[in-house]
Amino acid sequence: MSATPKIEPIGAKVPEPRQNDPDTLARQIVEKLTYSICKHPEQARKYDWLRAVTLVVRDRIIDHWFPSTDRVRDSGDKRVYYLSMEFLIGRMLRDAINNLQLTGPIREALKRYNVELDMVELLEPDAALGNGGLGRLAACFMESMASTGVPGVGYGIRYVHGFFRQEIAEGAQVELPETWLVHGNPWEFERRDSSYEIGFGGKVLTQQEPGKPPRHVWRPAERVLAVAFDTPIVGWRGSQVNTLRLWSAQAVDPILLDAFNSGDHIGALVESNKAEAITRVLYPADSHQAGQELRLRQEYFFSAASLQDIIRRHLGENDSLDNLADKVAIQLNDTHPAVSVAELMRLLVDVHGYEWAKAWEITRATFGYTNHTLLPEALEHWPINLFERLLPRQMQIIYQINADVIREASQTGFDGAQISAISLIDEGNGRRVRMGQLAFVGSHAVNGVSALHTELMKETVFRNLHELYPERIQNKTNGVTPRRWLMECNPGLTGLLTEAIGPGFLDDIEKLRDADGLADDAAFREKFAAVKRANKGRLADLISDRLAITIDPGAIFDIQVKRIHEYKRQFLNIIEAIALYNQIRAHPEKDWTPRVKIFAGKAAPSYVQAKEIIHLANDVARVVNSDPSVRDLLKIVFIPNYNVSLAEIIMPAADLSEQISTAGLEASGTGNMKFALNGALTIGTLDGANVEMLEHLGEDNIFIFGLTADEVAQRRREAHSGRSIIDETPLLREALDAISAGVFAPESPARYHSLVSNLYNNDWWMICADFEAYWNTQRELDGLFLTQDAWQSKAVHNTARMGWFSSDRSIREYAKDIWQAGPGKVR
Ligand SMILES: *Cc1c(COP(=O)(O)O)cnc(C)c1O
Repeated sequence: MSATPKIEPIGAKVPEPRQNDPDTLARQIVEKLTYSICKHPEQARKYDWLRAVTLVVRDRIIDHWFPSTDRVRDSGDKRVYYLSMEFLIGRMLRDAINNLQLTGPIREALKRYNVELDMVELLEPDAALGNGGLGRLAACFMESMASTGVPGVGYGIRYVHGFFRQEIAEGAQVELPETWLVHGNPWEFERRDSSYEIGFGGKVLTQQEPGKPPRHVWRPAERVLAVAFDTPIVGWRGSQVNTLRLWSAQAVDPILLDAFNSGDHIGALVESNKAEAITRVLYPADSHQAGQELRLRQEYFFSAASLQDIIRRHLGENDSLDNLADKVAIQLNDTHPAVSVAELMRLLVDVHGYEWAKAWEITRATFGYTNHTLLPEALEHWPINLFERLLPRQMQIIYQINADVIREASQTGFDGAQISAISLIDEGNGRRVRMGQLAFVGSHAVNGVSALHTELMKETVFRNLHELYPERIQNKTNGVTPRRWLMECNPGLTGLLTEAIGPGFLDDIEKLRDADGLADDAAFREKFAAVKRANKGRLADLISDRLAITIDPGAIFDIQVKRIHEYKRQFLNIIEAIALYNQIRAHPEKDWTPRVKIFAGKAAPSYVQAKEIIHLANDVARVVNSDPSVRDLLKIVFIPNYNVSLAEIIMPAADLSEQISTAGLEASGTGNMKFALNGALTIGTLDGANVEMLEHLGEDNIFIFGLTADEVAQRRREAHSGRSIIDETPLLREALDAISAGVFAPESPARYHSLVSNLYNNDWWMICADFEAYWNTQRELDGLFLTQDAWQSKAVHNTARMGWFSSDRSIREYAKDIWQAGPGKVR
């Protein structure tokens, strides 16, 4: 065979740099319309323009993608692999255009054809491959890895149907399928050459040669193909482009031709349907467990495919797997990919012939694990018999890891109770594999996502493992990317800040501090308030268009948007709204501050109480909004279908951010960060990252109320209930009485009986316990809003002091303390 001639890719370097002026861009957009979409520009529809612009931008990303990939390969630098079941990305075009600095020229180019860039960007469907905070964190981290120069690859699942679309009918949530791929997805590249067979079931053969340890060979009964789809993730200023590789499941044999030919047309496709089911839908479960066989299949499927891919790449560049941990860091985003620990052990021992102890050393040095919740029902555990049936060899490996860990614990002097607490097998309710324990023991670093959450992890879920491995747990407080959550969603504020402090903060967000002194500058405060006012106008228009509710941009926009969950306490907020409604009617003479309470969020379809809370919010909204006696002093709005794109309109428009979870329950929160960065004041509990926000913002600039995590734990030990508090608090009692009497649901007065009786009987989420403190803090905020100078000054301090909560800072900490990877290894 003759040597392959060297072929240079076309693009930014050779033969000539790509031009980014409006003329060139305009010409290229028309070229794409013509030759890639085959439309005459005069007949182009909206979606054709979206596709053409995307393709023009994509070419420029590819120009950066090749050199980024080459650079990492040639340097031999350590790569970071971020394994996550969820990536809640949202739209990609605006992010890419912004990060490539093309916003101005593309807007200009499109104007020549009378096309608005904003209109085009809004056509793109959200990539909603996640439920909430955990998935959005993974998306922010991907963008920040590219922006800070960490060579990162994200691995996840290419769900055909992402997070369900929510509609509200008669006040209740209705779930509809989400279809982000119907117009095709120009961002992804299918890589048929990167596909792997993934096994399930079958049996394990043991080969015993004299004088040697036994060798195990797994013979799966079923095989499914994992096919890679790559999406480029472009960092700030295009300096680096990383890859998000999502796996799609396909049958090894797409059609059983024998069956088809013999007339069984449906049966011929059964295998194919069964395989494809694995990546068909995202489980709509947030902070609670989705215990289904299909879920375990999804978890193993993407973990096993990713590990095969990582090993193949490593062996293409290295002689053996001995140095795997020097070249590879794998981060497990929650326990969903925790089976990777057992799978890597299987690959090292069974396939690559490593002895157990060496394999364990490599495995542990390679993995890091991020915990996201302390809720016991959210810590995954699989019934042993299910696990064994699907993954027989991995089950054996888990038993062996467990035996090693238990031996180590016994030698350390652990007693029986301590040992059963650290065991990877829960011997209680029907024997289960504990995925949190597996992830913990298989990782060299385990992290929580805020300072408080990390401390609570040490005291609660992982108390005994922390005793056995006291160096292993560390904290990495979450962050959000300032590109999406300031520059792109709030161009008005970004422009104002650039004018006031220069553009330095665009490259180093902590420079926002330079704006701190402007809180005392009346002229600046006025401009800051004007930007907020315009953003509120934009949200008011959206609410008017979608819901036909008129709201006054002069009122306090008091906003709670996040997954609906009892611990997040939307119910507390609704009760306060009802109490306020009662008070406004009882005391019309008082000087009430006009308020609009805005809610959005989805409930897991099987989570009855969460759905009741949505229903209640909508019922209360209907009654309050149509009551002329409240005039315009109180409006309540539930905006359906909360997603990333809606968040991008909501965050810049908030005056007040509701972060009111029961203390000790919210691991970090990131919504809290997005709001404050955009100049909203926070009313919140001492929970998650609110605690650190208090430290950075100062106590004058955040409104903290309620029980602390310790006090909540204490009350729960004392079997606290709400009854006596309700009896002694007329505001609360009258609000609950109104709910119970059917004031908000006359057609079905008993609808909320169980929600209310839970408060009387145990008040598990401390809604009664915190009500009065919450009410008083809200009234304090009412007063503050009337003094606009004071309010706006605090709002400016919020924006100026939130730079630390950037995911760039989080990623630099992971890179330095956990991955030992990234620019200069440590920064
Ligand atoms: C940021 C974000 C979340 C997380 O919100 P929390 O308030 O931290 O729970 C959830 N969903 C979407 C769409 C988000 O953008």
